[in-house]
Amino acid sequence: MSKKNIAILGAGIAGLWQAYTLARAGHGVTLIERSENPFEEASSFYAGAMLAPYAEEEGAEKLIRELGLRGIELWRAHYPDTQFQGSLIVAAARDRRELDRFARMTKGHERVGEKQIAELEPDLAGRFLRGLYFAGEAHVQPLAAMEFLLSAAQQAGAVARFGRDKAPGNADLVIDCRGLAARDELPELRGVRGERLIIRSGEVTFTRPVRLLHPRFPLYVVPWGEELFLIGATQIESDESGPVTVRSALELLSSAYALHPAFGEAEIIEFGSGVRPSFPDNLPRIIVKGGHIHVNGLYRHGFLLAPVLAEMTALYIKDGVTHREVFS
Ligand SMILES: Cc1cc2nc3c(=O)[nH]c(=O)nc-3n(C[C@H](O)[C@H](O)[C@H](O)COP(=O)(O)OP(=O)(O)OC[C@H]3O[C@@H](n4cnc5c(N)ncnc54)[C@H](O)[C@@H]3O)c2cc1C
Repeated sequence: MSKKNIAILGAGIAGLWQAYTLARAGHGVTLIERSENPFEEASSFYAGAMLAPYAEEEGAEKLIRELGLRGIELWRAHYPDTQFQGSLIVAAARDRRELDRFARMTKGHERVGEKQIAELEPDLAGRFLRGLYFAGEAHVQPLAAMEFLLSAAQQAGAVARFGRDKAPGNADLVIDCRGLAARDELPELRGVRGERLIIRSGEVTFTRPVRLLHPRFPLYVVPWGEELFLIGATQIESDESGPVTVRSALELLSSAYALHPAFGEAEIIEFGSGVRPSFPDNLPRIIVKGGHIHVNGLYRHGFLLAPVLAEMTALYIKDGVTHREVFS
């Protein structure tokens, strides 16, 4: 295989997986990020980051499940701190229909009752009668995972340049992972804003992501360890990141309180929002324009799909192989 001199634009989760994968494949990789410090302008910083190929099918095409299952395998193979604890979905008794609908829309789950919920998450004992357990799902802590990938890419030979926004002129190939900033070349990209908050509670212990279904205010709580939890996330058609609104904070906090009243005593550590780069059908794309390849539209699934898209890009560079539903 001919080794190429590859520039990757953007050090969000998409660009990091590309840099790591392509450097390991023996290419000369330069990772260019416009922010002065790692991750400070990446929407990836705000992610859950659940690896939930089954549960996400509730609102996504089956392609996301198919690619996502490979994504989980790649996280397992490369990132030792990936948490393989599955995920749990519960609903209040009055929202039983939400749970039934969720079960119909998804695969990979088993129905669990009060006793099994208590076994899985003892702090939820006596709080919910029914739930769905997705044993094959996983999660990572986003900042730790991104730091790992950056360092692993550098160890594999990639050079990272921060505070720059252009590819060097001598690159054979540019992989464009600029997220929403790539709208200058991909006008159909749009932003889907997601707000989330980080809290600290010593009174609740979860070992896996827990989703609380609700017709208007669905919520997930992801345990990050050291008493930290991510509470997320809103989904608003907007290109604006920036401060979290009072309405969103109220909705997220009251849903967390409904999941477990002890969250009422938790300490709020941080509010924040990111904008998920999304195509009109919410599916990811690898768009080849000669020596410029866009990897974008990761929407709600950036952590889940970034390793698979990197694997596909590497295969395309090596053998010209394309995946019919992802490449254009
Ligand atoms: C609240 C929230 C929760 C989420 N939860 C999950 C989840 O649980 N699981 C999951 O899989 N996904 C989740 N996501 C989705 C995931 O975060 C996104 O799909 C992902 O962040 C998109 O990554 P990206 O690398 O394409 O874009 P970004 O992370 O935005 O990275 C793009 C990078 O490009 C840089 N850049 C821009 N222009 C230039 C330039 N000219 N030169 C160099 N660099 C440039 C930017 O500074 C940025 O660092 C969530 C998202 C949000 C907002």
